[in-house]
Amino acid sequence: MDEGRVTAVGGPRIIVLLGPPGGGKGTQAKKLAAAFGMKHTSTGELLREEIRRETELGRRVKATIEAGDLVSDRCVGEIVEQQVRRLGENGIILDGYPRNVAQAEFLASITEDIPVEAINIEVEESQIVRRLAGRRFCSRCGNIYNIYFSPPQATGICDNCGTELLRRPDDKEEVIEERLKVYREETRPVIDYYRDFGNYHEVDGNWDADEVYRDICLVVGAFAA
Ligand code: AMP
Repeated sequence: MDEGRVTAVGGPRIIVLLGPPGGGKGTQAKKLAAAFGMKHTSTGELLREEIRRETELGRRVKATIEAGDLVSDRCVGEIVEQQVRRLGENGIILDGYPRNVAQAEFLASITEDIPVEAINIEVEESQIVRRLAGRRFCSRCGNIYNIYFSPPQATGICDNCGTELLRRPDDKEEVIEERLKVYREETRPVIDYYRDFGNYHEVDGNWDADEVYRDICLVVGAFAA
């Protein structure tokens, strides 16, 4: 699929990307946002930015994030509401929100007139641990690598800008199990929430990122037509 702008999506809409941590939501959201002229909103990234800037919110959520637990619905709800108010021409891709049914209900309450479509990137748990444990990122340009599947050319160094690669504190082995538990118990029920509303789509996320991207584009093309 062409990396450039593909098409508009027929007015502002919200695409919710669901799936387990490490399932590729961030990678796919970035590509989709660029191709469809949408904004990419990652609640995890926005929260990490608060931590980096050492804001009051950042200080409040740091320990929770590093333990692999969910921060309060109120904190993320405020962030998401601000983003929804600034939808832009083609809307936003929500990556990492909603993470439980209460958040899905809140999103519905603030998006009454805006079409919302959920795409679940389904990935087997056996794959996820290696994806998370192997993930490294560049703090300068944001490029993401995986030491097992897509390593940088020089160990620990970003191909793009030469900066040292880092590991997210919550990608450490001891936190991954907690994140998966939270996903199973809190986030998986969100799938049924959207399925019941009939705006649910699923793609197989076990393949490589380009193939998954092609499948997601087919889904987006179908509902945006
Ligand atoms: P992510 O980058 O999406 O994996 O999110 C990293 C962490 O940020 C999560 O493990 C949570 O601690 C927190 N977080 C991100 N999005 C949410 C959300 N919608 N609700 C609660 N916590 C969230």
